[in-house]
Amino acid sequence: MKRYIGLEDMSHINCASVLRVIQSSGGISRKQISDITGLSWGGMTKIVNKLMEHEYIVEEKNGAFAGNGRTPGLLRVNTKKHLAAGADINHTGLRAWVTDFSGGLRKMYFRENHFGNREELLENILSFFEMIFQDDKNEEIQAVGIAMQGRVDSEKGISIHFPECENWCDVPLVSILKERFHTEIYLEHDPDCMLFFEMESMDAENVILLRIDQSIGMAVALGGAILRGTGILELPHSIVIPGGKLCKCGLRGCLEAYIAPCMQDGKIQKQALEEMVSPLAVAIYNLICMFHAEAVILTGDLMKYHGMFEGRLLLELHKMQKDTRTAIRFSEDTETAVKGAALIAARQAVNAIRL
Ligand SMILES: [Zn+2]
Repeated sequence: MKRYIGLEDMSHINCASVLRVIQSSGGISRKQISDITGLSWGGMTKIVNKLMEHEYIVEEKNGAFAGNGRTPGLLRVNTKKHLAAGADINHTGLRAWVTDFSGGLRKMYFRENHFGNREELLENILSFFEMIFQDDKNEEIQAVGIAMQGRVDSEKGISIHFPECENWCDVPLVSILKERFHTEIYLEHDPDCMLFFEMESMDAENVILLRIDQSIGMAVALGGAILRGTGILELPHSIVIPGGKLCKCGLRGCLEAYIAPCMQDGKIQKQALEEMVSPLAVAIYNLICMFHAEAVILTGDLMKYHGMFEGRLLLELHKMQKDTRTAIRFSEDTETAVKGAALIAARQAVNAIRL
């Protein structure tokens, strides 16, 4: 590892930070960039010119001041060049979004995901990526973020376990895909991608996200940063009702024992839903205390039916936490994982630019 940051590294860092500012602005003047980044006018101009030369940004002429001579306009991300992609790999389907660096959607893809074993699942993933990379203009994709179901080691790029695929064990997905497609790949646990996307539009620092379908996936942001670590935040087999319903893990009263029966073959089970509300409220309450959460987002397939239990859940929570004001939000958007993955890819691609 390098011990010192040289001048050249500084210039990379500055290029990335100027592009980040432009990326999150939607249109910004040179003066504003200089104010936000603290770079000198000369330094900033040099970087802006470099970014323009490499087609990362474009200048939009300001019509209102069009007069004689050259009037500097607003700088924006170039939406015609440099793409990023997000992919959502889950046991029912494969989804992808190709976006520009500002997050604008270029194209979306979806395929069902039927597999019986590791080989078939890997083949599905590879042929899905093949289709995307062979599609028109997609050779401009510079980074891919993957929202992966199951257990994931993000740092090592390994998919440890995948639901309903027994011999899928410690698959080095990042290196397999990198070798085949020669692009940067970032592997993330799917609830983390969902939370990353939701945090973009939230004014909160401590946020919990629960993805509830047949089981429960969880992500947590503390102080605005998403907690990372393999094997942490494993909520499904936390006990919410001592001596309660028998769980498939052999214990009694796990949260999953109450969640799993709510949807059977895609149909909602009213009785199971009734029995699930109180244990879920206990779990949410405990999490709010543990992480001092300002907001809890509930998402996943079960939230299509939130109207059937929302009132009771909020009432149970209110009984437990009279004095606090944690916002509870129900999100029915089924594409936040893929959107978050694309956003992560775009951010990482910007951080990695070397000009
Ligand atoms: Zn269990």
